[in-house]
Amino acid sequence: MSNSVENVVIVGTGCAGLTAAIYAARSNLNPLVLEGPMPGGQLTTTSEVENFPGFVHGVDGFQLTQNMREQAARFGTRFEQSLVTEVDFSVSPRKLVVGDRVILAKSVIIATGASPRMTGIPGEKELYGGKGVTTCATCDGAFYRNMEVAVLGGGDSAAEEALFLTRFASKVYLVHRRDTLRASKIMADRATSNEKIELVWDTVPLEVLGVAEGAVSGLKVKNVKTNEERVLPVKGVFVAIGHIPNTGPFKPALEVDEGGYFKPTEGSQVLTKISGVYVAGDCSDHVYRQAITSAGMGCQAAIEAERWLAVHEG
Ligand code: NAP
Repeated sequence: MSNSVENVVIVGTGCAGLTAAIYAARSNLNPLVLEGPMPGGQLTTTSEVENFPGFVHGVDGFQLTQNMREQAARFGTRFEQSLVTEVDFSVSPRKLVVGDRVILAKSVIIATGASPRMTGIPGEKELYGGKGVTTCATCDGAFYRNMEVAVLGGGDSAAEEALFLTRFASKVYLVHRRDTLRASKIMADRATSNEKIELVWDTVPLEVLGVAEGAVSGLKVKNVKTNEERVLPVKGVFVAIGHIPNTGPFKPALEVDEGGYFKPTEGSQVLTKISGVYVAGDCSDHVYRQAITSAGMGCQAAIEAERWLAVHEG
């Protein structure tokens, strides 16, 4: 076990974690960033980001996170590839278990993100990210101008994605496994009454077609009541069946909601009930989920950590 105590350990290298690192490093806190199994987070799977402020002509998602990483490193951030499996926040300094080691930290920023829930059907993985299967209409919708697309799911996310896509797509199939939407009434009403959206009820996706061509050419689906199979002639498949926040190892110590997302202290986006421990980004936000909002939360968390350290370390 190492005896050194870190000022601040940041867990996660998506937009939230890297922005926290830039701020913490510029405050001379010499932060240690722990990088998990998906360096750069969800943004790295997006080919072009057109809505991150400051990039008139858009920016490649991977490049954007790479820039943030280099910016953080420039001010002294240290990176380590480690997966946190367990924490003990009942002691000070805080303990983070990584493999067979324990890292000690005065303050901790958790920015572990969320993973989109996927269906697991053939073709989904092969055509994910720039080839027609995506999980973010806000990010990728504009690439489907005058094309037919499918949205999978029946919750608020699916309804919202489908409605957003009607601005670009010529037609949106909303494919749901049951005959009623789970979405809130207002969202469900908007989706069902939009003439560009065709509700495909009682239907499950079977396969995303187009693997050989390297681009989505259709979606094979099956009606679970009639067993009838057909192919929807879509060029884009938007998977919106929920997210799985990466909060597992921290759950006993920090409060989570029914969806597993961290619950920050009331009135704050980043404070938790544990002093000196902060959350930022998609692991605690199931509403906005944007690169820029995650970056904003990372910034808030780093400023809070810096102030907390100033008070508690003299
Ligand atoms: P959600 O409410 O959990 O809905 C997931 C949907 O995907 C459900 O309709 C579910 O079907 C379906 N589904 C799950 N697994 C599936 C599978 N393997 N194959 C096919 N379909 C599957 O998730 P969400 O829509 O992302 O919303 C998450 C939370 O964020 C909710 O509390 C929501 O209200 C909130 N949210 C709010 C807004 C807003 O207010 N504007 C926008 C987005 C999200 P079943 O219905 O059959 O279970």
